[in-house]
Amino acid sequence: AALYRVNGWGAPYFSVNSSGNVTVRPHGSGTMDHQEIDLLKVVKKASDPKSTGGLDLPLPLIIRFPDVLKNRLESIQSAFNCAIESQGYGSHYQGVYPVKCNQDRFVVEDIVKFGSSFRFGLEAGSKPELLLAMSCLCKGSSESLLICNGFKDAEYISLALIARKLSLNTVIVLEQEEELDSVIDMSRKLGVLPVVGVRAKLRTKHSGHFGSTSGEKGKFGLTTTQILRVVKKLEKCGMLDCLQLLHFHIGSQIPSTDLLADGVGEAAQIYSELVRFGASMKVIDIGGGLGIDYDGSKSTDSDVSVGYTLEEYAAAVVQAVKFVCDRKSVKHPVICSESGRAIVSHHSILIFEAVSSSKYTVPTLSSTDVKQFGESLPEEAQSDYDNLSQSAIRGEYEACLVYADQLKQRCIEKFRDGTLDMEQLASVDGLCDLVAKTIGASDSVTTYHINLSVFTSIPDFWGFGQLFPIIPIHRLEEFPNKKGVLSDLTCDSEGKINKFIGGESSLPLHELEGENSMKYYLGMFLGGAYEEALGSLHNLFGGPSVIRVSQIDGPHGFAVTRAVPGPSCSDVLRAMNHEPEVMFETLKHRIEEYVHDEGGMAGALIAGGIAESFHNMPYLSVGSSCCLTAAN
Ligand code: PLP
Repeated sequence: AALYRVNGWGAPYFSVNSSGNVTVRPHGSGTMDHQEIDLLKVVKKASDPKSTGGLDLPLPLIIRFPDVLKNRLESIQSAFNCAIESQGYGSHYQGVYPVKCNQDRFVVEDIVKFGSSFRFGLEAGSKPELLLAMSCLCKGSSESLLICNGFKDAEYISLALIARKLSLNTVIVLEQEEELDSVIDMSRKLGVLPVVGVRAKLRTKHSGHFGSTSGEKGKFGLTTTQILRVVKKLEKCGMLDCLQLLHFHIGSQIPSTDLLADGVGEAAQIYSELVRFGASMKVIDIGGGLGIDYDGSKSTDSDVSVGYTLEEYAAAVVQAVKFVCDRKSVKHPVICSESGRAIVSHHSILIFEAVSSSKYTVPTLSSTDVKQFGESLPEEAQSDYDNLSQSAIRGEYEACLVYADQLKQRCIEKFRDGTLDMEQLASVDGLCDLVAKTIGASDSVTTYHINLSVFTSIPDFWGFGQLFPIIPIHRLEEFPNKKGVLSDLTCDSEGKINKFIGGESSLPLHELEGENSMKYYLGMFLGGAYEEALGSLHNLFGGPSVIRVSQIDGPHGFAVTRAVPGPSCSDVLRAMNHEPEVMFETLKHRIEEYVHDEGGMAGALIAGGIAESFHNMPYLSVGSSCCLTAAN
């Protein structure tokens, strides 16, 4: 566990038991009355055909723990409640979940259900997100906020106004000044009094990767001048009391409470000014940004870590708002936050399998081989070869590496112009690898082939190098004696993972066991936010299978409450406008034309094999016998 820093990034939900398996405590550390869930047992139940009562779902697999969502919501709420109480703050905290972080129906429904007792709401950034937020909030508390962010056209604005008419506590947050005219027009047409917010472009700038939307030149929000014009226009229309909320978002993964306090303090000043102008201000919405410690380092100068706890985050926010409002004698506003990453990251784990591994083995060359090879080289490469041999005799190892590289480059040129043959090129590769191995400079990293698409399942790693904790979920009582990188199924050189938390370029992994032994399962943790919606269909690999797991009393301590296999080949083909049924018919005609045998058995088997391939998931069906082989 220490090798993989599980206690750093995993607490309080993940740890390792005495059998060396990762365990999950979905309710966090506060409730010790439930036994921990052994993740390997969950994976076996979901995917192992030999497991009794098993679900036989193909991997990769996302395991969702709704109880973790509940614990995250309660922890955030309680951190704010404590800060509010201890600082004598005069209002309350009321968060919203930005659905863009994970729009899965069950995730959003769970959040609304678990958060309704403390009026937790939703944030939408587009029309479909607004539609889903509207329908989900019908089952929530009537006081829960529905924050409408994002660029808005007339249709978006009219939907948001309709939501207000349906008695949902909807706020239209102006991202652009022009949206105000539409809001005024549409509200008059629909006869609804809107509640309006403004998103301020703060001067406070978050300098990390996620901060590009912040600062004066940020993509979103209104400048000071624009906010003043909005106030004037609303006043002129007699609608200034509709302006009730101030919003800002300085970026995801805010690294420190100092930066947070600067942003919140600046926003609180704007809030107080809006009160002075006569707006009926009620809510300060501090956006998202509550960070996740992906590498467990608690560092403030990295995109993958944060230097504060939930409690410290809440205390910094409350203190910054209170300080400004007290100085300006402004009534304390309701504090709203739009934390996404911090709510959903922990609740899902991506499980995938390492199916094979390959380590380049350096060829053994005898001194006669080496001599013969040297003599066979074209004249131009001869001097590089001599330099290499002489520095080897003198024991000048650095020079050996330089000459070996020169020799290799020269031989590649010769191969390109046709004066070196393939055997000679292979010999030069072998010789150079032998030199590197002898000198101890050879790469001892093993490539593990994983049954996964990085593009589909870990798009943020592919897109900008976001690191997630990835570890084997079992065999952790055994020392991992290999250094591995992970190579995915796609035909793309970027489909590999060669950077890991802690800045490592390889991951400690175990030797894969023989064919009939236990499979080797890896888990990617803290990926519940953003990854699912951003994932692409590169190489037509679709999403993973998904199960929901709840903690219960009983022998295993868990129950699978929902299981859905990932998209089939037909599903992903359909997403690209192919018609699997028509494709199958075309192939069937081809079989009739080309496969002739008595009784048509071979044709029927081939058709059956093709039909099954359409039906199956695009990933490797490890362990199952391929139907096309059966048809041969
Ligand atoms: N609110 C807004 C306006 C955002 O743009 C984002 C994401 O960047 C969020 C909330 C969620 O941020 P986070 O996931 O960092 O909490």
